[in-house]
Amino acid sequence: MTHDNVDAGEIAKFEALAERWWDPSSEFRPLHDINPLRLGYIDERVSLAGKQVVDIGCGGGLLSEGMARMGATVTGIDMGEAPLAVARLHAEKSGVQVEYLHSTAEHLADQRPAGYDVVTCLEMLEHVPDPGAVIAACARLVKPGGQVFFSTINRNPKAFLFAIVGAEYVLRLLPRGTHEYAKLIKPSELAGWCRDAGLQVTDTTGMIYNPVTQVYRLNRDVSVNYLMASIRNENP
Ligand code: SAH
Repeated sequence: MTHDNVDAGEIAKFEALAERWWDPSSEFRPLHDINPLRLGYIDERVSLAGKQVVDIGCGGGLLSEGMARMGATVTGIDMGEAPLAVARLHAEKSGVQVEYLHSTAEHLADQRPAGYDVVTCLEMLEHVPDPGAVIAACARLVKPGGQVFFSTINRNPKAFLFAIVGAEYVLRLLPRGTHEYAKLIKPSELAGWCRDAGLQVTDTTGMIYNPVTQVYRLNRDVSVNYLMASIRNENP
């Protein structure tokens, strides 16, 4: 089976690091640090308890497991086998129920169209060849009126300085080569793909890292990291 919209090199990067996914002092520290912020952002908008949620590009399961703990019924999908194995093991050890599947968004959307109340796709779009196709699949996965959440990194000189030079070379929070400048995504581009997919953007919020206090905060400044909330039109 070939997957047109999967970059094998990108998947390999995450496979190589997967065993450290739940170590908050590892390469995944930034994801640990932003997890409470993004869980709060999503829960505020959809009330996760009792919702059917699919998490696209779930990796080791930080967000999937977090949402399940908040009472959602969660499916997590990823194209990396090692991250999924780590995610399954961690959920089992923690006594949290999550369905983890080896799948692309496009494939799951064929199998379970309009199968979910909420779709999350965080820190993943900048690792795929065709982000617009993933966004269209997210729109097919969610029920009409349901919400879809994205997060990624903006593309501009400041984002290059902070997210690549700062995070990978100066602070060494992430391994070199984690993010490729050309694959970063402007909010206007993300919003355009959402519109094309029948998703209406309801909010865009920045996530700002302060290297001195080492704390992330939600902010209006979307120049580097940002979250985008959208809702599927009732009549696509
Ligand atoms: N969303 C998680 C993990 C982000 S890391 C979080 O924010 O905590 C990006 C993940 O996307 C990796 O686990 C990688 O394997 C996965 N990924 C990359 N391309 C993918 C694709 N085309 N389909 C599914 N998963 C993909």
